[in-house]
Amino acid sequence: LNASLALFRDDLGRTSGAIVVFQDITESQKLDNMRREFVANVSHELKTPITTIKSYTETLLDGALEDSSLARNFLEVIEKESDRMSSLVKDLLQLSHIDYKKVNWDFRPLDLKEVVEDSISKMDMYFKEKKQNLDLNLPPNEVRVVADRVKFEQVLINLISNAIKYTQPRGNIKISVDTVDNFALVKIADSGIGIPKEDVSRVFERFYRVDKGRSRVQGGTGLGLSIAKNIIEEHGGDITVKSELGKGSEFMISIPVDNSVDML
Ligand code: ADP
Repeated sequence: LNASLALFRDDLGRTSGAIVVFQDITESQKLDNMRREFVANVSHELKTPITTIKSYTETLLDGALEDSSLARNFLEVIEKESDRMSSLVKDLLQLSHIDYKKVNWDFRPLDLKEVVEDSISKMDMYFKEKKQNLDLNLPPNEVRVVADRVKFEQVLINLISNAIKYTQPRGNIKISVDTVDNFALVKIADSGIGIPKEDVSRVFERFYRVDKGRSRVQGGTGLGLSIAKNIIEEHGGDITVKSELGKGSEFMISIPVDNSVDML
């Protein structure tokens, strides 16, 4: 514990007030460490594409430009690395907007089933590409929640695209919507590579990736799940995960059901 004292004096120099600040050092040190680690991560993530772009550009300028098929090849790498940097910056900006409460949320009552169906249809081509099997389970009735449709879809698409990404071709993906005790639950389960026990609790941390190489090759920034968790928490809900290495993973979103009656 750290304590500091500030005294206020009036015109005659008499003490007229005091402020004492007590600070929990371990907490502030922890935040400080997290900040340092975050800056180190961002720097590292940006350095890799910049180094690649720089060296490919140099090689082009040194003569590779004359060989048009080689040049095209190099330019494609440069384009891919620039895309990686822009996704990273986009994700970072979104995190910072959530952190600083700068997001204009558009919360409205809606049917969660529709949002899930829309997100799935947007990912349809990726399921087909990997010939994965999708098993969808929806309840018969409407599942009313209050949500920001665009942001909620972003979370669903993120979880679905992870399920596709981390599951082998022809694997199975199961999506279900349910309600339990005034909470709506969306489960996204896959028969993919799974997550080692020691990593499961950390996948929602910023930049945490079980396999950095694999995630990067697939174009991941390592920020998707932390953004998803923040968005769902803003909805008064939570995301959790259960996983078994080599067997698959199940991510579950829970958000409160909207019980309010329409005011007509
Ligand atoms: P990334 O951009 O790396 O996919 P995420 O934040 O979306 O970042 O996920 C963090 C890490 O969690 C991933 O790198 C991966 O190791 C692990 N992960 C996420 N979803 C799954 C899944 N469905 N199966 C196995 N591992 C997963």
